Amino acid sequence: MSRLVFVERSHVFYAFDPYLKPAAIAKPGDLVFFETQDCFGGQIKSEEDTIEKVDFSRVNPATGPLYVEGAEPGDALVVDVLSIEVSEKGFVVTAPGAGVLGDKVKKSKTRVCRVIGDYVEYAGLKMPAWRMIGVIGVASGEKSPTGTPGRHGGNLDTKFITTGVRVYLPVFYEGGLLGIGDLHAVMGHGEVCVAACEVSGSVLVRVNVLKNTGPAWPIVEYGDSLYILVSKETISDYILEAADIAVSTLSKVLGLEWIDSYMLTSLAVDVGISQLVNTRKTVWVKIPKYLAPVEKVLTALATP
Ligand code: CA
Ligand code: ZN
Repeated sequence: MSRLVFVERSHVFYAFDPYLKPAAIAKPGDLVFFETQDCFGGQIKSEEDTIEKVDFSRVNPATGPLYVEGAEPGDALVVDVLSIEVSEKGFVVTAPGAGVLGDKVKKSKTRVCRVIGDYVEYAGLKMPAWRMIGVIGVASGEKSPTGTPGRHGGNLDTKFITTGVRVYLPVFYEGGLLGIGDLHAVMGHGEVCVAACEVSGSVLVRVNVLKNTGPAWPIVEYGDSLYILVSKETISDYILEAADIAVSTLSKVLGLEWIDSYMLTSLAVDVGISQLVNTRKTVWVKIPKYLAPVEKVLTALATP
């Protein structure tokens, strides 16, 4: 029988470090309820609080880590996102040098965004809410700060990590050591000004383990497609890596020569941007499941 495991908001960490003490332990199949802080660690409380006032040692907190029994290096940790609740009040910020047009920003600014039902109000405008998880990852040998994305997940800031999806992360250390944080009430892919509508909240997930299929990069199963999330320092690097991984995955799954898979990728795979503003940028490649079912993609992407 699956149990409900609760991880309180006070159990935060700032690097996906394999030596952290687990905040809770779950068995495969358990439901886990993570309470999360916003990406500012709650330090921004009004429009008067600009980003300069924030203590950066307390930004991007992730709740956890959660130890999942049976998760061993080389496995895939499977996280089903069952629901995401967000606070009514969120903040979007920018500052000189922040985001892709930071050179044009003359002074820092913070604005409130309000979540009202399925809408977000910002500056008198109403837009459909899009509740999503910014940070989701496992312990890595790099001890990545929670603000950085990578093979272990982390600050992926990808809209597809929303309610109803399944996320596959590679396990590098026993128990996986899952952390979740940085919820957004709405965000545009790119996250161009450096922030989304940043909110605190809670996430209900179900965790599972797939043996020996830890993928080289995080995968999100969303609708009829699989999104492989690749994070690198520079745009050209990550687009090259993403295209390369799509071509090699389809070549393995379908038994195609590389050049045929290259051309198939050009026909059937979308490449897009998650975020352009973190220490590493994140891009996605969208592989339709009619071409490659998830089990085969996991096997193709499994790290040897
Ligand atoms: Ca983020
Ligand atoms: Zn965020």
